Amino acid sequence: MDTDVFDVVVVGAGIMGSSTAYYLVNQGRKVLLLEQFRLPHTRGSSHGQSRGFRKAYPQKFYANMTDEALEAWNRLERESGTSLYRRTGLLVVGKKGSQCLEETDVTLKQTNCSHERLSHAQMTKRYPQFSYPDNYEGVLDHTAGILWASAAVLAYQTVFRCRGGVLNDGDKVLRIIPADISEVVTSRARYKTRSVIITAGPWTNKILKDLGLSLPLKTLRTYLPYWRVAPNGGMSIEDKSAPCMSEKIGPDADENYVYHSPSAEYPGHVKIALHDGPEADPENPDETSQDDVIGKLADYIRSHLPFVHAKKPSIVEPCMYTMTPDHHFVLDRHPRYRNIIIGAGFSGHGFKMAPVVGKVLGQLSLGQSPSYDLTPFRISRFPGVKSHL
Ligand SMILES: Cc1cc2nc3c(=O)[nH]c(=O)nc-3n(C[C@H](O)[C@H](O)[C@H](O)COP(=O)(O)OP(=O)(O)OC[C@H]3O[C@@H](n4cnc5c(N)ncnc54)[C@H](O)[C@@H]3O)c2cc1C
Repeated sequence: MDTDVFDVVVVGAGIMGSSTAYYLVNQGRKVLLLEQFRLPHTRGSSHGQSRGFRKAYPQKFYANMTDEALEAWNRLERESGTSLYRRTGLLVVGKKGSQCLEETDVTLKQTNCSHERLSHAQMTKRYPQFSYPDNYEGVLDHTAGILWASAAVLAYQTVFRCRGGVLNDGDKVLRIIPADISEVVTSRARYKTRSVIITAGPWTNKILKDLGLSLPLKTLRTYLPYWRVAPNGGMSIEDKSAPCMSEKIGPDADENYVYHSPSAEYPGHVKIALHDGPEADPENPDETSQDDVIGKLADYIRSHLPFVHAKKPSIVEPCMYTMTPDHHFVLDRHPRYRNIIIGAGFSGHGFKMAPVVGKVLGQLSLGQSPSYDLTPFRISRFPGVKSHL
């Protein structure tokens, strides 16, 4: 056996690449995780203090993954000796009878997730820090909470290394030469491997180009603004009744939502953000303007969050989204090369699922049947997308 050959090379050390590498090293595999930038960095999608975890998904195929994901986050906390999750609950608000509210309620029931339906009166009594019109109500997902994001990425990488995995940062993948034993050509070396997993976030299509594939991915610049909140405004993580919150807004009410989490990262400030942003090239993201997003959020705050200062956010942390047309992930093999696996298009909601994503990508790379039905995540769902080599 050639000892220079890795079982798997994982390209990209964001949360998805790191969780995948961790899964594979736990299976006793020889794994190399490559990252183009020096770590830690803030140019991709996984940096920052916090990400929301929720079971409240309208689609059952996501809700089904969340039990295992939460267990795995708890396990990683124990293995790394790091606190990674804080339960707060998530209040999904919306107009009475809105599709999102009804679907969320149904899914939470079907998945036996602890939750409550709150009338407008109940919501107002329990959460006086929010102000919604009479025709609104809420669904409270009790299991939801906050994942400490950068700490989670570091925890995966640390445990991966401790168990014998190799993590090379500042080592950019320039080309993948597919074969039974593929070669991965980087800015520093050439590596041989039985399998490659591409988890390159917004750079995915740049890597896939030479492999004859272009996925319908749109890369957006998004922002995490932190807004000043009045003292005793009931929005600190230490307040018992301060949940995370989300509401679908705008004419395209299907996917565009405002979300916020209680004050934790920066005392006296709450994260209130929009699940949207302008299109941007990950190589040049700073040319976009945040004004439109911040303006929409300020309007929202004025209407619904009376204890928050809407003038302007004190802190804005930019980030990238990689969107698919249906906003569902891509978890699949390359249509032409079976030992090249792709995990991409996490569409601004992938972080919480990283332990499950890492597991299924790892299983695909080892030729095993994945633990979940991956039909919603297949490349073949995009009409006309196939390898043109
Ligand atoms: C503002 C914001 C808020 C979010 N909120 C939530 C939330 O509340 N809940 C939730 O579940 N999800 C949330 N998400 C989504 C979640 O953070 C992403 O889905 C997830 O981080 C995607 O991770 P990734 O590993 O695919 O991408 P990335 O983190 O971008 O990682 C890809 C990595 O690949 C590296 N790379 C690229 N090209 C190469 C190359 N050629 N060679 C080597 N390395 C390369 C990049 O440098 C990068 O480090 C949010 C995202 C953002 C931006």
